[in-house]
Amino acid sequence: MEEEQCRLAADRSGLTEFCRTKDFLVCVDSDGCVMNTMESKHKKCFGPCLVEEWGLEHIRDAVLQRWNEINLYTVTRGVNRFVGLTKMLREVNEEYVPVAGLPALEDWVGTTPQLSEEALAVAAGSGAKILSKALAWSRKVNERVARLSVEDRQPFSAVYASLEKTHEYADIAVVSSANEEAVREEFEESGLLGHVDLLLTQTVGTKEYCLKALLKKGYASSAVIMIGDARGDLKAAEKNGVLFYPILVKKEEESWRQWSEEALLSFLNHNYSGSDQDERIEAFYRNLGM
Ligand SMILES: [Mg+2]
Repeated sequence: MEEEQCRLAADRSGLTEFCRTKDFLVCVDSDGCVMNTMESKHKKCFGPCLVEEWGLEHIRDAVLQRWNEINLYTVTRGVNRFVGLTKMLREVNEEYVPVAGLPALEDWVGTTPQLSEEALAVAAGSGAKILSKALAWSRKVNERVARLSVEDRQPFSAVYASLEKTHEYADIAVVSSANEEAVREEFEESGLLGHVDLLLTQTVGTKEYCLKALLKKGYASSAVIMIGDARGDLKAAEKNGVLFYPILVKKEEESWRQWSEEALLSFLNHNYSGSDQDERIEAFYRNLGM
C-alpha cells in the first residue's frame, strides 16, 4: 500500500518519467536555501502565532528570541515544526510558566509515525487539549504564511546566475520537505522553474527517499550533490552516500557565489569530496554555533 502511494505521488511529480540528461545531478533544497523565506516565516508567522496561542505576551521577546535561535540560527535549524514547538514549550515550562498538558505533546511527538498536521488532527480528536492547541497553532501558521507578501517569498539574488550556470553542466532537482503547491508557486513566480528539471516535495517522500529515487536514474553517487541550509539536508546526503554543499545562514549570497565560482568546478572535476567538502561542512556547523 505504501509503495503504491509512493508510486502515485512520484507520477504526479514527474519522477517516474524523468530521465537523466547529463552525467551530474545537483539537488537543491528550497526554504532557506534557494528561497529567502525562513526568516519571514519564523519571525512573522511561527513565533508570533505561538505567543498568541499560549498567551505568552508577557514574555513575548524572550520566547521569540529563543524560537528564532532554535529554528534559524542553531543546529536545530529546519527542524520539524512540532519538534520545534515541543522544545520551545518545554523551555517555557521550565523557565517561565507551567504549560498545561505538556507530557501529552511530548508523548505524541515521540511516538507518532508521522510528524504531520494530518496525524496531529487524528490524535487531537480524542487526545489532550494541548494537541488541539498545537493543531490550531499549526493551522494559524499556515494561514499567515499564505498571506506573506511576494517580497517575503523571493530567492536569494545570487541563486539566478548560480542555477543558470549549474544547469549548463548538470541536471537540477529541487528536493524539499515543504508543500508541493507552495514550492511550485515560489519557483514559478520567481522565474526559476525553467532552471530546474524536477520538483520533488513532501508529496513524494522524505529528502532521503527522494535522493535515493534519483540515484536510480543512473547517476554515479560521486556525481550527485545536495545543496542545503540545514542539518537534515546533510543527513539525507550522507545516508545516500552523495556529496553536500552548505548554504550558510546569514551568508547565503556569499555561499551561492562561492558555489558557482569555486565549488561547482571542483564538483564537476570530481575534486569536491575530501578536504573541500570537509572544510565547508565544518564551516556550516560552526555557523550554527557548534
Ligand atoms: Mg531548508
